[in-house]
Amino acid sequence: MELTTTDRPSGKQAKNPLVMAHEQFDAAADLLGLGEGLRKLLKSPARQLIVSCPVKMDDGRIEVYTGYRVQHNLARGPAKGGIRYHPSVTLDEVTALATWMTWKCAVVGIPYGGAKGGVVVDSTKLSLSELERLTRRFTVEIGIIIGPEKDIPAPDMYTNPQIMAWMMDTYSMHKGYSVPGIVTGKPVEIGGSLGRREATARGVMITVREACRYLGRDLTGMTVAVQGFGNVGSIAAEMFHDAGAKVVAVSDVFGAIYSAGGIGPHAVKRHELEAGSVVGFPGAEPISNADLLELDVDCLVPAALEDQINESNAHRIRAKLIAEAANGPTTPEADKILRDRGIFILPDILTNAGGVTVSYFEWVQDMATFFWDEDEVNSKLERLMSRAFKDIVALMDTRKVPDMRTAAHMLAIERVAKATELRGIYP
Ligand code: GLU
Repeated sequence: MELTTTDRPSGKQAKNPLVMAHEQFDAAADLLGLGEGLRKLLKSPARQLIVSCPVKMDDGRIEVYTGYRVQHNLARGPAKGGIRYHPSVTLDEVTALATWMTWKCAVVGIPYGGAKGGVVVDSTKLSLSELERLTRRFTVEIGIIIGPEKDIPAPDMYTNPQIMAWMMDTYSMHKGYSVPGIVTGKPVEIGGSLGRREATARGVMITVREACRYLGRDLTGMTVAVQGFGNVGSIAAEMFHDAGAKVVAVSDVFGAIYSAGGIGPHAVKRHELEAGSVVGFPGAEPISNADLLELDVDCLVPAALEDQINESNAHRIRAKLIAEAANGPTTPEADKILRDRGIFILPDILTNAGGVTVSYFEWVQDMATFFWDEDEVNSKLERLMSRAFKDIVALMDTRKVPDMRTAAHMLAIERVAKATELRGIYP
């Protein structure tokens, strides 16, 4: 199956993610009473780089791929964020994702600004050596703005530890010595961190557990549907199952599967590794991705692309809790509909921040050349994520903000604004 654009099944154009990011920002900035100048500054990306990457294909042809690296804000530290390989990547999307990275890092209190990169490519169509050549060329092209003290890439959709290893090697070859701190999400053998692979999913679990405590709900027996079976969705499904929740549905680009009695995500993973998809898993009923989103479950975990819950399906969502493991899965229009219907949303900039948090731990370990055991990584992640949850809830209480997304943005924007004010505007 082809990886196509994010256009909705109705044929309607997907909402521009940058418009989404700005609407979310404005809602929080209004409540903060943020001045016009700071608003302009905090909405503007610091740097946007567009590159062309020529790649010699296996058949001798030359193909040219467009890539982007955007650094949104650098007030709190070096820029940080993943690299996405997807045919629907646009400059606006990468800029929105970089913006969300700024708020994400500020919410969990790690000393980074936000960045994101992307290449317009269906990487599933490339051979391994074509993928390697594209990655190495892209690394050199964005090499003028990345660096362990400047901007540190990581995996995102359709990129992985092997791709990070090639990026690290390419950058190191140009320097003449190993620079493990240039990327995070590397294999452990070359300076990666224990616990990084599972970190985003673990962060989702920590957030849902905190939410259950806060809302007085029980994680044990909770029914869960997970959209997306990549690094985040598949591990989150396994962790929910292991924690005593009942995962009733999962999906990938090929379709979704459902079983009221629970689907056993570990077995689904084994099936997916063999069959190439979750579809066809014995004992589960095939449903569509759209059906999965509208299931009557306690918790819905969107772990795929942006714009999955929008004004066209928000009225039909029946989950009581939505844990945004993806970046930007819910549009502001859907947010309002869901809020009015009493559905509680755990926002992306908190819920999926476990990945970048352990990326920070990986970078710290690389810079110190001193590596931690997995328990240390996990307990530090636990502490940072729980603290972020409590900080947001405290802000909701003291400032009477009913929705968690706006409160999380307020917390983050205040932190970045404060750093900007302290540093001043140069010159
Ligand atoms: N791509 C991930 C995200 O969206 C991880 C970024 C990182 O680790 O720098 O948060």
